[in-house]
Amino acid sequence: MRSLSEKIREKAREFGIHRVGFAPAVELSIERGKLAEWLARGNHGEMRWMEREPEKRTDPRILFPPAKTVISAAVNYFTPHQHEGPGKISRYAWGDDYHDVVKGKLTALLDWIKHEVPAEGKVCVDTAPIMDKAWAVRGGLGWIGKHSNLITREVGSWVFLGEILIDLELEYETEPVADHCGTCTKCIEACPTDAITEPYVVDSRKCISYATIELRDEELPPQIAENLNGWLYGCDICQDVCPWNRFEMPSEEEAFEPRNGETALDPTRIAAMEHEEYIVRFRRSAIKRAKLPGLKRNAAAVGGNREG
Ligand code: SF4
Repeated sequence: MRSLSEKIREKAREFGIHRVGFAPAVELSIERGKLAEWLARGNHGEMRWMEREPEKRTDPRILFPPAKTVISAAVNYFTPHQHEGPGKISRYAWGDDYHDVVKGKLTALLDWIKHEVPAEGKVCVDTAPIMDKAWAVRGGLGWIGKHSNLITREVGSWVFLGEILIDLELEYETEPVADHCGTCTKCIEACPTDAITEPYVVDSRKCISYATIELRDEELPPQIAENLNGWLYGCDICQDVCPWNRFEMPSEEEAFEPRNGETALDPTRIAAMEHEEYIVRFRRSAIKRAKLPGLKRNAAAVGGNREG
């Protein structure tokens, strides 16, 4: 008879979750040390929220006290379109907001589990303070590449991560997935702003993705602005060059297809965009994270006109 763990894996695939993995809900003590070191070096830039509640970030039982297991989920979001610029949008933000899409899948999976056995759980998709890459590694979904993104052997790194904290014991991965970066350094060499300061360490302050999405300054740092290479929202360079993304496969999730068929935003149009249009265009889109002033700043830097 199939175990509950096997049934959950199978059900997850039906919900369009590429893979799930299970790990005991314990404190991430090694990862907590690494996070503290990364923060102490200021690598998080202006993302001050990352400094808050480190104990909550590294112990899922503080987020959800009955938790016995962290179910990690990887949802493939690759769609077979190319970046076109200027005004390029990071691939993850082409379609509908992943928070909604992935949360819907995980909630459906949790509801199914609760229907099968008595259980309580909590769904997390990038809103609760949880170290999703660390849990994905512990759950056997993949390894963290030198560019600091999770890489799966099956479909590469174009995956969204989410978790279900649950009060059930499941069958845990015994062997972590080995690091398959080997001697490759393509992502480090390709980054135009040298944001990967050493293997596995990204300095957000040098990262185009951080600057164009998270940074609230009126101007982009000169080193970023001069090396944007047409990126208006986010950046995929380190993942585009990764040999493991030769295994990319189209997602079956239509919500990840580019909205309006756009993989880029016209900088001139963004420069002239009024708030009302912004609200309509980016409703339920991850792009609204940058806010309209941020998009206009980025558009100006990639060649748009602030005044429209
Ligand atoms: S480009 Fe090479 S070094 Fe970078 S994450 Fe991919 S395999 Fe690892």
